[in-house]
Amino acid sequence: MTAQGGDILAWLDRAISERERVAQAADATDPSPWTADLAEGTGLLVRADGEPLWDCENSSALCMTAAASVHAALHDPESVLRRCAADRKLLELHSGRCHSCPAKDESGYLDEWTQFDYGDVCPVVELLADSYGWTEGKR
Ligand SMILES: [Zn+2]
Repeated sequence: MTAQGGDILAWLDRAISERERVAQAADATDPSPWTADLAEGTGLLVRADGEPLWDCENSSALCMTAAASVHAALHDPESVLRRCAADRKLLELHSGRCHSCPAKDESGYLDEWTQFDYGDVCPVVELLADSYGWTEGKR
């Protein structure tokens, strides 16, 4: 494994672990699944037992726009943990071992038999890292 490959894998492991930790903490207090109870253009985020999630600062329930509440419900703790588990399985398939994977060559041609050795970073790993913010500072 190259230093760069090791760096991206270690960074990605920390990013996934942090999301898992936060999702587990949220699920412990506000269990999944979350749903959006929509009324008159606003949304109320509701946890598994039917209780609304609370805004701890100003009101008795967490009310937001309808779109934001649907978005939040789609990203409840269980869905985040499922995504993290799937990403860890993808990492297992695409890192640390010699494998062939779809990748574009220098001309942009998709070469589906590109071989990645132990020191190479597979594009799938880079895409996963990007989804967690790896290149966020470069944009
Ligand atoms: Zn791969």
